[in-house]
Amino acid sequence: MCGIFGIYNHRDASELTYLGLYSLQHRGQESAGIVSSNAERFLSKLGEGEVQEVFSKEDLIKLDGKIAIGHVRYSTYGASDIRNAQPIVVKCSKGLLAIAHNGNLVNAKILRNKLEKEGAIFQTTTDSEVILHLISHSKEKNIIESLKKVLPQLKGAYSLILMTPTALYGIRDPYGFRPLIIGKLSNSYILASETCALDIISAKFVREVEPSEIVEIKDGELKSYKFAHTTKRSLCIFEYIYFSRPDSILCGQSVYNVRKNLGKTLYIENPTEADVVISVPDSANSAALGYAQISNIKFDFGFIRNHYIGRTFIQPKQKIRDFSAKIKYNPVKDVLKNKKVIVVDDSIVRGTTSKKLITMLKYAGVKEIHLRIASSPIISPCVYGIDTPTKKELIAANYNVEEIRNFLGVNSLYYISLKGMIESTNLKEENFCLACFTGDYPI
Ligand code: 5GP
Ligand code: SF4
Ligand code: MG
Repeated sequence: MCGIFGIYNHRDASELTYLGLYSLQHRGQESAGIVSSNAERFLSKLGEGEVQEVFSKEDLIKLDGKIAIGHVRYSTYGASDIRNAQPIVVKCSKGLLAIAHNGNLVNAKILRNKLEKEGAIFQTTTDSEVILHLISHSKEKNIIESLKKVLPQLKGAYSLILMTPTALYGIRDPYGFRPLIIGKLSNSYILASETCALDIISAKFVREVEPSEIVEIKDGELKSYKFAHTTKRSLCIFEYIYFSRPDSILCGQSVYNVRKNLGKTLYIENPTEADVVISVPDSANSAALGYAQISNIKFDFGFIRNHYIGRTFIQPKQKIRDFSAKIKYNPVKDVLKNKKVIVVDDSIVRGTTSKKLITMLKYAGVKEIHLRIASSPIISPCVYGIDTPTKKELIAANYNVEEIRNFLGVNSLYYISLKGMIESTNLKEENFCLACFTGDYPI
């Protein structure tokens, strides 16, 4: 998971990119970067941490030019290191290129070894740099022609924004794992991971970049090219469950509504009466609200979240993760004491967060805990850009629901069914990647 943004033909390109990245911050907090083009040269600023820590007012003034791209990084493949911050810039046989990548290539190592044998020198350990080398090595002079040769060699998930000194390109892999959308603001074009990045700059949504599509924005026009056939659409269903912001629209579906449907479905599949419904904020808020509305059990804030720390899961080291889980949430005793409580969470990965939350609820004096999970059991790791752990660490890959219930120490535990989860999106099963729930990998 990462957030990407690009804008073409705006005199405040870097400021708008900064705002776009701000609204995509939930997609990665490890590093942020903006590269702008003033038609002759590229200017760039990259740094570790969140958007507001990385860019100063002065930085944005220096990043001049009418085209800019930006990236917020969440580390998966490639170490957590400033050298792996994006966008990556190279000067190569095709001239100046900058790239921002969301996703993960499954054949990056193979491609990299091959390129290194041919003499390529890599500056980063990311899979994204491989794409630039392949473009540079390609014999075609024209960017579109070289992309048509290079992209079919890539296997895995990639939503890309590519910039040359005078043009912007948006690319989505043939499976469409990660989102990428097109927006417009007067005469400027925008590419972004999510629609919330258009809202913040008052831009209009035009359409999604389609799987297997290259959009070229050049000389004031947008042109579309296909580089492969789409055989199996595989949008990551976790975009609806957890990754995307609830105020974004994805594939025509409001993420907020989908999450409320997940909560409703949890109740319909396994009706449980209780005194109060609470969520694990913020990721399960909409699902918990959906549960409360359909069940007529009141919704209340059982946990207060401290917003001044990043997402626990995203911290790359286990030691840091353990620490931040404790400081992230605090229970509200008045809401919980002597109550039979429905707790809605979006997912259980390792089970460590849930275990801590349950301990806190007991300490706050709850009478009963009924844990409801708005995604099915995660039994397989993700290889398409999400930092889910190995099978060994995935609790549902090793224990059944009753064993997990027992480990967590709750009165009942219910995961939404796979069917219920898919139906909550209002889209058909064939649109999705479901590999972490089924072990059935599209690639
Ligand atoms: P765990 O079970 O590993 O202790 O934590 C699971 C929680 O981490 C979920 O409630 C979810 O909100 C949060 N989380 C943070 N990042 C991710 C992610 O990349 N994938 C999933 N499924 N959950 C995540
Ligand atoms: Fe999304 Fe799971 Fe597929 Fe990864 S394996 S892309 S997290 S649905
Ligand atoms: Mg959560």
